[in-house]
Amino acid sequence: MIQKTARAAEKASAKALQRCLLPACGATYSLSERIYVCPRCGGPLEIDCSLIAPDNPEALRKLWRDRAVSRDPRDASGVWRYREMLPFDDDAPIVTLREGNTPLYDGPRSADYCALGSLRLKHQGCNPTGSFKDTGMSAAVTQALVLGTRTVVCASTGNTAASLAAYAARAGLQAAILLPHGQITAAKLAQSMDYGALVCEIDGNFDDCMRLIQQLGDDPSIYVANSINPFRIEGQKTVAFELMEQCGWQVPDHVVVPGGNMGNSSAFGKGFSELRALGLIDRIPKLNVIQAEGSAPLAHLFAELGNDQIASDAEIPDAIEPVEHPRTLATAIKIGAPVSWQKSLRTVLRSGGRIIAVSEQEIADAKAIIGRDGIGCEPASATTVAGIKKLVAAGHIRPADAVVAVLTGHVLKDPDYVSHYHRGTLSLESQPISGAFRNVPVHVAATKSAILEILERRR
Ligand SMILES: *Cc1c(COP(=O)(O)O)cnc(C)c1O
Ligand SMILES: [Zn+2]
Repeated sequence: MIQKTARAAEKASAKALQRCLLPACGATYSLSERIYVCPRCGGPLEIDCSLIAPDNPEALRKLWRDRAVSRDPRDASGVWRYREMLPFDDDAPIVTLREGNTPLYDGPRSADYCALGSLRLKHQGCNPTGSFKDTGMSAAVTQALVLGTRTVVCASTGNTAASLAAYAARAGLQAAILLPHGQITAAKLAQSMDYGALVCEIDGNFDDCMRLIQQLGDDPSIYVANSINPFRIEGQKTVAFELMEQCGWQVPDHVVVPGGNMGNSSAFGKGFSELRALGLIDRIPKLNVIQAEGSAPLAHLFAELGNDQIASDAEIPDAIEPVEHPRTLATAIKIGAPVSWQKSLRTVLRSGGRIIAVSEQEIADAKAIIGRDGIGCEPASATTVAGIKKLVAAGHIRPADAVVAVLTGHVLKDPDYVSHYHRGTLSLESQPISGAFRNVPVHVAATKSAILEILERRR
C-alpha cells in the first residue's frame, strides 16, 4: 500500500505537464512552473493529464462510487474523489470545503417551456460559496500551497472573489480580490468581506481588473487564481465526471452552459475528452454555450465563422473582437474580452455544439420558469434554459434529446434582480424588462377571511 502510494505520488508531478494549446507552438512545461500563458508564444496553457491516467479505467467507476460513503475529507469532496485524474501528488496539501456533490434535478416546467420531453438541471449553485467556482478554486488554492505562494489574487464579477476568499481563508493564505467598483451584487461582496479577503474596488470594468491581474501575476510572491489558471480548469473538469456518474454513464445529447470568461465550458470539454480517452464514455455530448446579447463576443465570432466550415483547430482565429462596453444584468457573465475563448471555441466545435446569445427578457423569463420548478438560480445561470428554448425552436436540439443545463450560481447571489423582476421594476439602462411570469407579493388585512379569499381567487 505504501509502495503504491509512493508510486502514485511520483506519477502525478513527474508525468503531468503544462502544454501550450496553440498548434504551431505546443511547448511543454513542468507543473512546478508558476505560469498562466505560454512563456514562449503567449498562448493558452492546458494541463496534459494523459500520462497519469490509470491502467484500469473500468475499476475507477467502482472506486469513485465507493468513495461516496467514505468519511475521508478527500472522498467527501466532489473534486478530490476523482483524484486519479488530477495533476497532484498523493500527499498534496488539499484545500477543500467539500465542494462538488451537487444535485442533478429534473425540471419538468423548464422542459415544457423549452418544448422538450425532459430537461435535467445540474445545480452548481449548491457548492459551499454558492457557485461552480468552488470546484476550480479547491484545485487552484491547493496548487498555491504546493508552489509555496503567500498571496492569491483574482479579478472577479463577484463569484470568483467569494470563492477565492473562502478557500484562501481555509488555506491560511492572503487573498486580494479586484472588483469593478459598483458592479458587484451586495451578496457577493458581503461573502468576500466575511471570508477576510482584501477587497479592492477598482474604477473600471471587469476587463480592466483582468488586465491588472495579468500585470500582478509577474510578481513572484503572487499566484493568480482566475480561470486563465490551468489548475482551476482541472478542478472544474471533475463536474463532467460527477455528471456522468449521475447519468449512469449514459452520455446526454446536449450539455448547455452559460459563457462568460469561458473557463467553465473549457473545463467541461476537457473532462469529457478525458473520459472518452479512458473509454469510460464512447462519445462527447454536444457542448452549447449561451451568452447574454449585450456581452456576447464569442457568439458573434461563432456566427461569423459558420459552424460547419471549421475543420481543424488550425483554423481557429488568433484574435477575438472584444465587446467594449458589455451590458447585461447577468453580472456573472458581463465580460467583453473572455480570457479562455480559444479553449472554449475549440471544445464547442469539436463537440458539434453551438454558441448563441439570448436577450435580457429571455434570461429573466427563463429564470422565473426555473424558479417554478422549485430551483433558484442566478440570472447568468438562466441563459441556459433561455438558450435551450431557442436551440429547440431552431431545430438544433430535438424535442426527444437528452439535455442537461448547468446552473452555475445560487438564487441568493442576486436577490435584488429577483425582486425587481417580480415587482415589474426590472430594467437595463432604462430599458424595461417585463415580468412575464411575475409573482407580486400582496398586501393583505390581518384576518383569516382575507387570506382565504385571496387563496380562493388565486386557485
Ligand atoms: C463565473 C460564472 C459564470 C461564467 O463562467 P465562465 O467560466 O467565466 O464562462 C456563469 N455563471 C455564474 C453564476 C458564474 O459565477
Ligand atoms: Zn506556446
